[in-house]
Formats: sequence, C-alpha cells, structure tokens
Amino acid sequence: MIDFASLATEGVRGLTPYEPGKPVEELERELGITDSVKLASNENPLGPSPRALEAARAAEPGIGFYPDGHGYALREALARHLDVDPAWIVLGNGSNDVLDLVARAFLGPGRSAAFSQYAFAVYPIATQAVGARARVAPALPPDHPEQPYGHDLEALRAAVAADTRVVFIANPNNPTGTWVGREALRAFLESLPPEVICVVDEAYAEYVEEPDYPHAMDWLDAFPTLIVTRTFSKIYGLAGLRVGYGVSRPEVADLLNRVRQPFNVNSLAQAAAGAALEDEVHVLRSRKLNREGLEQLAEGLWALDLQWIPSIGNFLTVDVGREAAPVYEALLRLGVIVRPLANYGLPNHLRVTVGTKAQNARFLESMALVLGQ
Ligand SMILES: *Cc1c(COP(=O)(O)O)cnc(C)c1O
Repeated sequence: MIDFASLATEGVRGLTPYEPGKPVEELERELGITDSVKLASNENPLGPSPRALEAARAAEPGIGFYPDGHGYALREALARHLDVDPAWIVLGNGSNDVLDLVARAFLGPGRSAAFSQYAFAVYPIATQAVGARARVAPALPPDHPEQPYGHDLEALRAAVAADTRVVFIANPNNPTGTWVGREALRAFLESLPPEVICVVDEAYAEYVEEPDYPHAMDWLDAFPTLIVTRTFSKIYGLAGLRVGYGVSRPEVADLLNRVRQPFNVNSLAQAAAGAALEDEVHVLRSRKLNREGLEQLAEGLWALDLQWIPSIGNFLTVDVGREAAPVYEALLRLGVIVRPLANYGLPNHLRVTVGTKAQNARFLESMALVLGQ
C-alpha cells in the first residue's frame, strides 16, 4: 500500500485545500429550493459590462487557437488605463495566479513570507506550496476603534525576518474589509529591507471611495520591489473567466514572466477584460450600488443589534455573537448563501457580499428570522 501523502513535498503534505463555496445549482438541488441568492464570493451582483460579454462572444470563433501568450492588446489597454508602460504588467489567470507566480519566483525552502493574521487565505497556501515558511503577524485587536481585526503594520514589520523575501498586504483585506492608510503604508514600505518584495493586493481598489486610501500603483517608481495586484473578478464582474494582473518594475515583471505558463490567460478573458476597462459607466454604477448596499446592510445589522467590521470592500464581515456555523446553515436553508469564516480563525463571523437592494433585504430578513428577532 502506497502512502501517497509521503510522495508529496513537505509543504504540500501540510496544506489544506482552499474551500470554495458549493455551486448554487448543487445547493439548490440538495435543499430543494430554487430562488437562492449567492452572497458568498464577493462577485459583482450586476455581473459584467454588456460590452465585456459582447467582446467575449466576438472572440468565440478564435478559441480553436492558443491565446496571445503576451496578452498584447490587454496589456496595452491596461497600460493606457493605468498610465504605466506595458512592460510593467504581468497578466494572471486571476490575480490568484499572480500571487502564485510571486511565491514561485521569490519563495522556497529556507525563505519566508510575512502577512497578517486574518489575511487572504491564498497567501499561506501559495507560501507553503513552494516549501517556504509563513510568518504571521498578529492583527489589530477586535476592540480597535477604527480597524478591528485589521493589519497591524508595526507587527507585520516586526515579523519580517532575515529569511523573509515576500510580504503580502491585502488592501482592503478579505475577509475583514479593513484597510491601511497612506501614511502607514508608505512608512511600512520605506522600512522594508531592499531584498523583500512587497505585494499590495488591491483586488477591491475600484470599489474604494475612502480619501486616505493609498493607490499603491502611484508608488511603483519610489519602491522598486513593490508589486501591486488587481483583478477583473470583483468590480468588473468577470470572476468566471479568470483574469487579473500584477504591476511592478519591468525587472520584477521579467522574473514573474519566467515562471508564468505561456498561455495562462485564455482568449475570451483577454477580450472581455479589455472591453470591460472601457465601460467606465458600469464601474461607476457598480460602485454606487455597493456604497448604497453597504449602508443598507449597516442599517439593517444595526437594527438587529449586530456588530460588523467596518469595510471599504464589497462585503461585510458580521459578528453573529455566537457560533456562526449553525447560523450559516440556517441561512442556507432559507436560500441565502454567505461565507463562514471559521477557517480564518473567526468562528463567530460570517462574510456577506453586498448584493442588489433586494438581495441585501433578503439577507437581512433571513438573519432576523434565523436569530429569532
Ligand atoms: C478575490 C480576491 C483576489 C482575487 O481573485 P482572482 O479571482 O484570482 O483575481 C485576490 N485577493 C483578494 C484579497 C481577494 O479577495
């Protein structure tokens, strides 16, 4: 009998796979319901821009061919959009892919990555998968007046050791929705040793309206080892196509490209993403819907006497004041799918994505029912 686990590398043996939510169809079949709402994965309730859909359809006849391995047109479009040179952009199969490229290029046995407690779950997976060690900095305390559970950049700086080669900062962070401000992030970047790559993961940047939010993209000239990652999965509504990108100095981009699969971004995704960038109205509409939804959820949760972590993303993490798993299950039976966070070390919290007005209302009504109010 083969001990299959022993065949894997040490890092892989210790991994637990990322738990994605169940597909809606599967859940509905299991529960015998039909009109569920999925508020579990921070997708845009408006979906993609019609222009993106049209571009994907127009690209269909080409799917017998390999995609453009350099993503020439999309990188050009992004370069214009971001006002950087195309050589600074690395495309990924989702920004998750870019995070993996960072790990493969800069981490390995004998090296470590530093990130915060409650940080996005992909960082520990990417780190451990390549045999590197994770150095987890304690988060700000739950009773912190502004950023409960947020990244503590002083603690994160202290976690950077001699073997640390990568720091991951999610701004805002998922699942907490917390964020780091301009001064604090700048001081942190200035304090890092020159051999440390700092990834600032801005998956939700396009949603942010907070004036003190630092768009780290503006600092690429000042900090040569900075990599900013963004995605088309969130505000652009293209999560199913898998496309994201990293922006960094070309010397860093070149290293990432060395470990990148040549055809990592498919042709439909490249076409749709390029068209999505052009539809500024869809982005504005999505941002507005999100702002109104955050207010609606906050008011509703307030009325239910529940606490939540202040968020600048398209989701809210709610303290249900008791073990959240049964609440999650009960919501499911009412057809409301949210995200339990026990695997993040937050067993009393649920993360809910901001939906349409009707979806948010449905979530709040269901919470009231489940909590018996
Ligand atoms: C959703 C998310 C991503 C990106 O996901 P992709 O779909 O792979 O682009 C990256 N970072 C954070 C913090 C996220 O929440």
